[in-house]
Amino acid sequence: MSDQKITILADDVASQIAAGEVVERPASVVKELLENAIDAGATTIDIKVVEAGRREISVTDNGLGIPYDQLELAAARHATSKLRDADDLFQVKTLGFRGEALASIGSVARMEITSQAHDATAGGRLSVEAGVTSARRRLAANNGTAITVRELFYNVPARLKFLKTDMTEKKQIDTLVSRYAIAYPGIRFSLTQDGNRSFLTPGNGDRREAVSAIYGVDLAKQLLEVIFTDHDIRITGFISPTSITRANRREMNFFVNGRWIQDSSLSAAVNQAYQNMLMVGRYPLCFLFIELELSQVDVNVHPAKAEVRFNAPDRVFAALQRAVRRVLLAVTPVTELHAQHWQSPYLGQHRIDPAWDMAKDNRETSVPPDAQPSPWEAGDTTSPAPLTGMKMQLLRVVGQVGAAYLIAEGPDGLYLIDQHAAHERILFEKMLSSSAPEQAGQILLTPVTVDLPPQQARLLSGQLEALNDLGFQIVEFGPNSFQVRVIPAQLAGGDPAELVHVVVNDFEEDESPLAGSQRERLIGRICKRAAIKAGKVLDLREQAQLLADLETCENPRHCPHGRPTMIHLSVDMLERQFGRRGAR
Ligand code: ADP
Ligand code: MG
Repeated sequence: MSDQKITILADDVASQIAAGEVVERPASVVKELLENAIDAGATTIDIKVVEAGRREISVTDNGLGIPYDQLELAAARHATSKLRDADDLFQVKTLGFRGEALASIGSVARMEITSQAHDATAGGRLSVEAGVTSARRRLAANNGTAITVRELFYNVPARLKFLKTDMTEKKQIDTLVSRYAIAYPGIRFSLTQDGNRSFLTPGNGDRREAVSAIYGVDLAKQLLEVIFTDHDIRITGFISPTSITRANRREMNFFVNGRWIQDSSLSAAVNQAYQNMLMVGRYPLCFLFIELELSQVDVNVHPAKAEVRFNAPDRVFAALQRAVRRVLLAVTPVTELHAQHWQSPYLGQHRIDPAWDMAKDNRETSVPPDAQPSPWEAGDTTSPAPLTGMKMQLLRVVGQVGAAYLIAEGPDGLYLIDQHAAHERILFEKMLSSSAPEQAGQILLTPVTVDLPPQQARLLSGQLEALNDLGFQIVEFGPNSFQVRVIPAQLAGGDPAELVHVVVNDFEEDESPLAGSQRERLIGRICKRAAIKAGKVLDLREQAQLLADLETCENPRHCPHGRPTMIHLSVDMLERQFGRRGAR
């Protein structure tokens, strides 16, 4: 794009570009025009939309502009200044490269291109109506390009029928522009719909400020910053702390080399990093920017360029997961272990963790980029050591209710603790952090023999290695028969045969036992069964021990399946409820 000359792509290039319709709805017009403005190096982009884009969409930029004698070419099909030959397709640096957008838009609307190239003293204008181009004319214009699209689909009424309600189309445009605005914080974006400003970003290069302009300062300041490099993969951006979640994946945004893309495996990778920290069915918010060598990613997969293909997808997913986990673990222990942050979000007034400051702190203490790959492993050097502060007993046990809950007093009020969920969390973290060689197992005085139906026996055989890594020692002992010799120390006292049965039964119910982090899921399953049940009466010493153990957990507030382990009734809230405060 350096010399700014527009040429028609050779047929072979054109045919290598997957064919497809570019313009599906008003938001697709906005997308193409925005990408052109960004490719033209604009630093301000103004988007005006009238009647959800059915009546008018205009995008004005201060980019390079289109030379007067190339206006017609710009609107012609397969005319682009961004690609020369087929090899360039594997080195795409610009958002556009197909040379199709303006031609496609011009064929289904009344389009007007007004532009003045940066080095020119005058500009020009060209109109295209339903694919018919009128003669260009000279005109004094501002440097840059303004493209106005009116009466979209006026000549293809069938398309009009497929448009959704104005509200939906407007929302799509809002969402789309906001993604670009966050991806390009150096550009000042302004979006106006029907005369109302949706947002205006500062364009000062600060991504958090761009998020703030769109989502509000409250959310923006709580987001955690991600900065991560693994060889040629770089991941930056923001993720939400565990206190901010959504009911779906829609606000999980991924960008690859500046391009927003849809890829369910990327969101799966991030979700996994949050595993055991969020309630089931809740999803984080994120804006994650993945940068890698141009040759490592194929962008020519989809006509709207919303999908990409990675050469080494596994490396990308692994890097993404590590990047996110590292940040979460660096903030989680510190914020959650302070007594004042033990409030449950399940009570109305939940306090927000000072994630903004935490993120800053982390940056200052600078997490070494190549430290410990798995933050779950004990001795992870990336998380600040919270345990020393934790030795202090924060919770004083008061008693047990209904043989299911413990009541405790903390520095800031009352805590109700679910004994089963709490014990699950404790066992889970203990088992996760110990690995087989150092695992002190409990040797059974008399090994226990377990006979299983053939199908379950096969399942168990397949899991033996994983189980033995966790500190079990189970050996095959004849057809469909197993002998349990050692169980992990954490599970001492449990019924060994029941533990084995339970693991096998759960595997049967689980459709994909091997997906995800197998070890975590296996441990989660075992802990769920091995944890003390509701209904078990605990003596005071056992109650105190349970609380002390919970306090040493990295993530004491939730069980491994995401349910809360405790509910906090703060002094403040008690005083209000009893009318001691606030009423006066
Ligand atoms: P592509 O972006 O794939 O090249 P388009 O049809 O979107 O194809 O645009 C065709 C050409 O018109 C671009 O290659 C570029 O040279 C020129 N162009 C379009 N919009 C702008 C703009 N806003 N500023 C400068 N040049 C533009
Ligand atoms: Mg384009």
